[in-house]
Amino acid sequence: MQIVSLGPVVVSGPSGTGKSTLLNRLFAAHPNSFGFSISHTTRKPRPGEQDGVNYHFVDRETILQGIANGEFIESAEFSGNMYGTSIKAVRDVQKTGKICMLDIDMQGVKSVKKTDLNARFLFIAPPSLEALEQRLRGRGTETEESAQLRLAAATEELAYAAVPGHYDLVIVNDDLDEAYRKLETFIFKEE
Ligand code: ADP
Ligand code: 5GP
Repeated sequence: MQIVSLGPVVVSGPSGTGKSTLLNRLFAAHPNSFGFSISHTTRKPRPGEQDGVNYHFVDRETILQGIANGEFIESAEFSGNMYGTSIKAVRDVQKTGKICMLDIDMQGVKSVKKTDLNARFLFIAPPSLEALEQRLRGRGTETEESAQLRLAAATEELAYAAVPGHYDLVIVNDDLDEAYRKLETFIFKEE
């Protein structure tokens, strides 16, 4: 298999749609090809999440100071917390020669589109809002308030993704294996 493009790949989609599941599968299958852009966030770690691996878990002051210092490519408020991609997060991956994968929300997508990162944009959609709610609640990580905020954001994200041209590809994550195959096809090209 051959890499089509060395530019970063931005993966976006509603919370609970399966982005992490798909990305983790990609990283496990191709350990030398991809690097994850480790974002900063003010939200608390979930069980199993590690600081400096899944996210840099920081306080609001730290992100705001970083933004003021010009250290961030983009940042956004999502579901009551701040999230942001530092320049270093992307550079650290690019230095290794691996393809940088970003998992960011719709606001981040809009910001990255305005940069010269030359990224490709992939949207992971749930089969339905009902399925999304089931997955989000089934994951067991959110309070009721957080679940509601995430589901409200999902409606906007789906509307944005429905506009042709906003994403290079929309993958409906219904059957996981099928969605994964589409993800690989988007990123790799058969030799
Ligand atoms: P995201 O990273 O987009 O917030 P996750 O990867 O954490 O979403 O997935 C949310 C939940 O949905 C997890 O419990 C995951 O196991 C489950 N899930 C992911 N993909 C599928 C799928 N195709 N069918 C059913 N459940 C799925
Ligand atoms: P979660 O709290 O479920 O890990 O992520 C919530 C949302 O924040 C998801 O849509 C995820 O893609 C997004 N997100 C994660 N990191 C960043 C980031 O650095 N910037 C932006 N804009 N969104 C992010």
